[in-house]
Amino acid sequence: MSGISGRGAEGDAHRGDLPAEAARKVSLVVLDVDGVLTDAGVYLGADGEGRTVEFKRFDIQDGLGIRLLQEAGIQVAIVSGRVSPATEVRARELGIEACHQEPGARKLPVVDRLRRGAGLEWDAVAMVGDDLPDLPVMELAGLPVAVENAVPEVRAQARWVTGAPGGRGAVREFCRALLQARGEWDARVEAYLEARRGMP
Ligand SMILES: [Mg+2]
Repeated sequence: MSGISGRGAEGDAHRGDLPAEAARKVSLVVLDVDGVLTDAGVYLGADGEGRTVEFKRFDIQDGLGIRLLQEAGIQVAIVSGRVSPATEVRARELGIEACHQEPGARKLPVVDRLRRGAGLEWDAVAMVGDDLPDLPVMELAGLPVAVENAVPEVRAQARWVTGAPGGRGAVREFCRALLQARGEWDARVEAYLEARRGMP
């Protein structure tokens, strides 16, 4: 880990330590779905009645990272540009009430509403994205983050880039890095384990 934040020689954000001063201000983490919580693939098919059935593959380790953020008092929201029941199911599993699926991928008004509702400035918002629909939010968010598989325009806007691709641990990596940068990771892990060390 270099410990250096900013932009690298190729105009890309470093993958070193997440910038601590930005991390400490974050109260709302906004996650894109396709390409961030998934590998951007969708399985499309039809049931016996010809109705479209869509499956997505989520990473279970991401889920525990999200839970640790929530336990640290950070609000987590999902904002997707694609409407899919699979996203609803996963959000429910994760206890994420703010799950917004916007056909047309106009994410900025949604995130702005969430931000205002929580009484937050933009510097309290982190956005994890991979593709162009995420850019308008990333341009305003205090902590814009790109996943490894993000398109060049998104990587260029990011203050931090994950080493893992979306759907393969990128969100878990971000959750850990965010809490580490705030000095909260070890205590969160210890609290999680302590609650599970008791014998029945
Ligand atoms: Mg995406």
